[in-house]
Amino acid sequence: MPARRGGPRAHLAPRPIDGTAPLDRRLLDAIERLGHGLRAQSQRTARTAGLTPLQQQALLAVARHPVQRRQVGALAAEFDVTVPTMSDAVAALERKGLMGRTVAADARRRTLALTEAGAATSAGLAAWDQPALDALGDLDDADKGAALDVLLSVIGDLVRSGEIAVARTCTTCQHFRSHKHDDRSAPHHCALLDLPLQRTDLRTDCPEHELAPTGRLQ
Ligand code: SF4
Repeated sequence: MPARRGGPRAHLAPRPIDGTAPLDRRLLDAIERLGHGLRAQSQRTARTAGLTPLQQQALLAVARHPVQRRQVGALAAEFDVTVPTMSDAVAALERKGLMGRTVAADARRRTLALTEAGAATSAGLAAWDQPALDALGDLDDADKGAALDVLLSVIGDLVRSGEIAVARTCTTCQHFRSHKHDDRSAPHHCALLDLPLQRTDLRTDCPEHELAPTGRLQ
């Protein structure tokens, strides 16, 4: 994560109307605006497939997640909704013939799986956020690495304070060692891989992620 400056955190005062709000406020405004744009895009693509945005998220998640994460409870935690809400979304996908449930090897849990029609629908929806990816495409890698580092640092703080439930990011992982190296492009370290982490290589959904104990400083 980026180095922290000392002193009290910037006060997020109400926005002045002349556009000179503090940097933290304008950064948060930009992230909020991006979130609105992505939600609107998600609603448009989901609607074209006859789905709600949550059904689309569940379908895409089941298409890409390993089997142990393809369960209603895990999806509910990932998308920050209640288990009954996610159960309703999954039941709707089942009625539409896009998803089914199989009994896991230990016979205690039911695992979600896509039907053939579900796999085809998810493949069609996979590029739902392509406009945003295109907008990032021409930017400098070093700038994108710095932005990724900053955003993952904030996400790590919000996970530790309980504002975000699930994030399998480097900054919430017990193997993450912040600022172990002087290299500006690769300041962090993964103790599991025993390798420096380039800022551009920080992970947002790592298969080796293990949640750090709450409150541990990164
Ligand atoms: S195990 Fe994965 S999430 Fe954890 S620090 Fe290493 S690369 Fe990052």
